[in-house]
Amino acid sequence: MKKCHSCGKLKSLEEFHANKNSKDGKSGDCKGCAIQRTKKWASEHPDRVKEQNKEFYLRDKEKYKERARLWALANPEKSQAIKNSWYQRKKKTKEYREKRKEQNRALYHADIEFSRAQVREEQAKRRQSTLDTGEIWSISKGWINYN
Ligand SMILES: [Zn+2]
Repeated sequence: MKKCHSCGKLKSLEEFHANKNSKDGKSGDCKGCAIQRTKKWASEHPDRVKEQNKEFYLRDKEKYKERARLWALANPEKSQAIKNSWYQRKKKTKEYREKRKEQNRALYHADIEFSRAQVREEQAKRRQSTLDTGEIWSISKGWINYN
């Protein structure tokens, strides 16, 4: 058992975060208090939190990218849905989307064999670029929505 410095309650050691720098290898305050302390600090310093998140991200950029890449490979449908929703958000108006759809449909049917070949090529390119770069959030410029 250990007494929490913050709330003064006696708690079992599992209730304390590990801390290399302390004598007994545990934090001075219990997990509950530590969380409260962190939350309070975060609400008082939103800018610092933003900066820290950015620092964490930059420090472990490759790790995050790798994780995103693996996630995309494990969840191809969800990943595609995210890409699509991102793409749709970029398109400002419904009319614009409708117009594009009509144009694409007309183009697609104008030369169906050519169009199908293009779609296949584009899909292969996208698959490859996802594998190469792990950039699951980007969409290659030539992508056309035929749906
Ligand atoms: Zn406590």
